[in-house]
Amino acid sequence: MKAWSDLYIPPLDSRFSLKALSLHDSATASINALPVKPIYRMYVCGITPYDATHLGHANTYLAFDLINRYLRATGAQVNFVENITDVDDPLLERAIRDGVDWKDLAHSQIELFKSDMVALHVIPPAHYIGAVEAIPQVIAAIKDLQANNSVYKIDEDLYFEVRSDKDFGRRSNLSQSEMERIFAERGGDPKKAGKKDPLDALLWLAQRPNEPGWESEFGIGRPGWHIECCAIALSYLEISPDDKTSVDIQGGGSDLIFPHHEMSAAQSKMINGREFASHYVHAGMIGLDGEKMSKSKGNLVLVSNLLKQGRDAMAIRLALLGHHYRSDHMWVERDLTTAETLLEDLRVALSRTEVAPTDSTIEIIADSLANDLDTPSAIKALKDWLAHTNSGLTGGSPGELSRAVDSLLGIAF
Ligand code: ZN
Repeated sequence: MKAWSDLYIPPLDSRFSLKALSLHDSATASINALPVKPIYRMYVCGITPYDATHLGHANTYLAFDLINRYLRATGAQVNFVENITDVDDPLLERAIRDGVDWKDLAHSQIELFKSDMVALHVIPPAHYIGAVEAIPQVIAAIKDLQANNSVYKIDEDLYFEVRSDKDFGRRSNLSQSEMERIFAERGGDPKKAGKKDPLDALLWLAQRPNEPGWESEFGIGRPGWHIECCAIALSYLEISPDDKTSVDIQGGGSDLIFPHHEMSAAQSKMINGREFASHYVHAGMIGLDGEKMSKSKGNLVLVSNLLKQGRDAMAIRLALLGHHYRSDHMWVERDLTTAETLLEDLRVALSRTEVAPTDSTIEIIADSLANDLDTPSAIKALKDWLAHTNSGLTGGSPGELSRAVDSLLGIAF
């Protein structure tokens, strides 16, 4: 599938030396530096295309965009792959509810998502892959799992035996009972008759009446969600024999830690023997009026609606970056109006020829990002620079600061 249009990213002057990027890894619950490498492989789980793009989605994709930008600024390449779950139960259910064709619903929401990503200055993935177009890769991945005796049948559906991966559960650090509870809450089927373990995951769903299906060796059906991401990641992120893991960074919102990322990682491990990711990185949840923002609760603030109201996409980006990416927090209108004011003040200050020194500000922004994407500290550095400029300090380069903020934070003036 075609991704959205690429962005120009101004280079950071080479005299700024960037530290190694440290990120929080959910599997070890610790912040660890990424090894210095010429190419990083990053897989970020995409949306199911309905009700896109709410601010929770935006917060997640901005976090991984910051990682992408920082690693590129160090001179590395980033092979960034994102999927889009363009066939799945929630999409089909929504299409039936609204009386529309599921393909039309997916298409319209994918287009909306892409235009939101362009507005928010998110660098597009090198490979943006839909579940439907990845069905041959999914079939191949299931056959690999079959060859490793990790698959069994219930009626005509295929299931992944989670305990075939001896590390199952290690990445999410949950007990069996916690996993069963969350699995049931997030679309799993722990009570289905015939399962060897309640957590065993659906790999291939045999075609149901009035639902789409694709031909395969296992009969007509469609892929499960976890094997979709596993197959896309393994197919589109080039793994060299020296790589200990299949990807460097597996990303998504924190609601994907379990079951989605645990399942994808276990399946991937059973296919190629490698641990799936070096870093499992997760963004926090955005809420509204005291509750998590979610499709099921219907309390969504959509990026496209804010843009239609004439709100500045760069201010939306700045407002979200005002909170640490891992923090769960409530969206409040005040954050956006505060960001709009700051953006305007920065634009005015950056249009001056005489501004406060900028090198130390750029260094603080870069160091803050290297420290597990500490955007609140980066934004504080910008506010301090603004105050120094407004108090009459001189000696800085407005063009250089403007380019650095665009390059590292994705805020273009
Ligand atoms: Zn995924």
